[in-house]
Amino acid sequence: MLYIGSHTSYLKDKQLYGVVEESLSYGANIFMFYTGSNQSTQRFQIDHELRDKAHKLMKENGMDKDKCVVHAPFIINLANNTDNGKYNFYINFLKQELNRCIELDIRKLVLHPGSYTTLNREKGIENIANGLNIALKDIEGASVLLEYMSGKGTEVGTSIDDLKAIIDLLDSEVYKKVFVCLDTCHMNDSGVDINEIDKFLDEFDEKIGIDKIKCVHINDSYNPLGSHKDRHANLGYGTIGFDALLNVIYNKRLEGVPMILETPWINRNLKDTWAPYKEEISMIKKREFNDYINKEKASDLL
Ligand SMILES: [Zn+2]
Repeated sequence: MLYIGSHTSYLKDKQLYGVVEESLSYGANIFMFYTGSNQSTQRFQIDHELRDKAHKLMKENGMDKDKCVVHAPFIINLANNTDNGKYNFYINFLKQELNRCIELDIRKLVLHPGSYTTLNREKGIENIANGLNIALKDIEGASVLLEYMSGKGTEVGTSIDDLKAIIDLLDSEVYKKVFVCLDTCHMNDSGVDINEIDKFLDEFDEKIGIDKIKCVHINDSYNPLGSHKDRHANLGYGTIGFDALLNVIYNKRLEGVPMILETPWINRNLKDTWAPYKEEISMIKKREFNDYINKEKASDLL
């Protein structure tokens, strides 16, 4: 079965109920959201009535809550501990976010591993593993999905070896609560040719184990292979191309893994901006590219 959805908006007045409504309007059967702004750690209280209404609506529409994910805010950085106060704040915030996941009953949290900045990769890896060991120690019933990154700046988690190094340093109880979220744009920008996804999966399986992949972000990329940039493009309008992405989505070895679109809204700087997800999900289901933006017009986006 195909689990396909997109990034959605979690807003104060409708919360999880709004997320489910939005996903249904795209023809999605799963979703991803931030529990507040992706740039800040300010969070409002969870309304239990809205949460229960949301789960009821999901059930009525055959949506599987275990395939849905939350994304942690970008500003959490576990890789650098030069400012101890900040490092501890991020660990605590991650813990709170995991507890919010449990309260919302959407129990998978995607996390960017972090950037080592003034330190080095090895130190960064140690700090991330240490932070996860502390944050996840007492968490029951929620897990962290470490995201595969493009390698922009000093990002950690930009190769299978990086992710393996973090995972190898986890305590055995914490190991059971840590998984991986792939991202096709990040992989392309890190130097992985999406046309050769099976080669990548072979290596992943050998080093980490394919059962650790619990989500894939499906994005095209504005930038060429190995550019270390990280700018998501709409499916079929970037350098990866629709067919290569389709090959990931329907890859037998990724069957049952949630596929989440994080592609940019159309005309995002204009008043009439709109979400591409309904079109993209429909193309995926039909397995056929449809030039809905108009390639010529889209070319000035590239
Ligand atoms: Zn992400």
